[in-house]
Amino acid sequence: MKLLLAGENDTLYAHPFLRAAGMAGEEPVALRSGAPVAYGTRLMSMPGWDAVGFDPGSGSFETVQEIKLGRRWRRVFAVAAVPPPGYLRLLLPGAKRTPAAPLLPLWAYTAAGAAARGEIMATLRVDRRRRWDTACYDTPALAPAIEAWKKRYPKNRIVAQLARCATEYFCSTARNLFLGRYEAALPLARACNSRCVGCISKRHGGHPCSQERIGFSPSADEAVDVAARHLSRARDPVVSFGQGCEGEPLTAATLVEEIVRRTRAETPQGVFNMNTNGSLPSAFERLVKAGLGSVRVSLSSAVAGNYDAYFRPRGYSLSDVKRTIRLSARRGVFTSINLLVFPGVTDTKGETEAFVDLVEETGANFIQLRNLSIDPSLYPVRGMKLDGAAFGMSEWLRLVKEALPRVGFGCYNPTPSEIRRWT
Ligand code: SF4
Repeated sequence: MKLLLAGENDTLYAHPFLRAAGMAGEEPVALRSGAPVAYGTRLMSMPGWDAVGFDPGSGSFETVQEIKLGRRWRRVFAVAAVPPPGYLRLLLPGAKRTPAAPLLPLWAYTAAGAAARGEIMATLRVDRRRRWDTACYDTPALAPAIEAWKKRYPKNRIVAQLARCATEYFCSTARNLFLGRYEAALPLARACNSRCVGCISKRHGGHPCSQERIGFSPSADEAVDVAARHLSRARDPVVSFGQGCEGEPLTAATLVEEIVRRTRAETPQGVFNMNTNGSLPSAFERLVKAGLGSVRVSLSSAVAGNYDAYFRPRGYSLSDVKRTIRLSARRGVFTSINLLVFPGVTDTKGETEAFVDLVEETGANFIQLRNLSIDPSLYPVRGMKLDGAAFGMSEWLRLVKEALPRVGFGCYNPTPSEIRRWT
């Protein structure tokens, strides 16, 4: 597998003799195998990042800034793959940041290489459910469906927000609302009590954001109209609080509670889900009583100091998050942990032991493996306590699955029919 390089105008080159490499945190690793890039994968140049390749002759890693094309030497940069949903990233790109590099947008940069049969990426498919495949969302049915919703609810700000999310941000859960199926977004929170380094809707880390944070607080009427229509009509429906374009939904628990209670008075169909940082267990308990059926709690680490380095919590701690997960599982809510995976950190001894302990101790049902989308240089590895070298994400997955035989693994929130099947 040859080292991939990006030249001017993002032209791709394969290095004449260096092999592809990746990074586990800041440690280079030679790429021995990889998956062919799947439909929906993006190959990206990393401007200002030098490529790192492996020299099989000397057995050492080399940093590449230029290659000879014809008679001239040309500046080249590292290349990363950004896998579609369903693929676990095994290694970060083989790349070293130079001081001239701009901050990269929020993508899950992954090691890539050039094989005889085409480009490959360092990933493992961990969720084969097709409903989230990128191909399912490129449909001509979307635009007229959005128009129909807008016509029916001309003054509903949530409908207008989701129309923007569906067309500008290509958000799958916003598109699901209009396409009348599965998990639909219901964003409403403007505030958040975390300051994640890689927040996707607020520039806490100075990076460019993927979405603009929602600029209004919807009324319960606006939200109930959207929720009741989706739950009563859509295929295997879920209404989901805690989307990419909002803050933390638990900070708006009173509004969420009213929405769930009033919608449940209109329809018993489907499931209410919440994607959350799990920071406020008492508020969460009220929502369970109101009728919340599934939850996804995000974690970057189960080691308190390392968790704080990324989430930078305000007014809560990892022990509050554990209380929320435990309470949720005990109350029979389908409880997923959304683990923000970062090779070189997640797959170290202390991190792995703490994570397995947390899952066992809280009783969570399912682990969602989320490739953390962030400029690799922004992830606060240096502020973390890590014991020992990374043992690789494939080995990590084998060990964690072995240690947690009753827990499910994948990438997506369950539908009502899956919850019925799995519980
Ligand atoms: S919990 Fe979500 S909204 Fe809050 S800072 Fe983190 S990514 Fe941003």
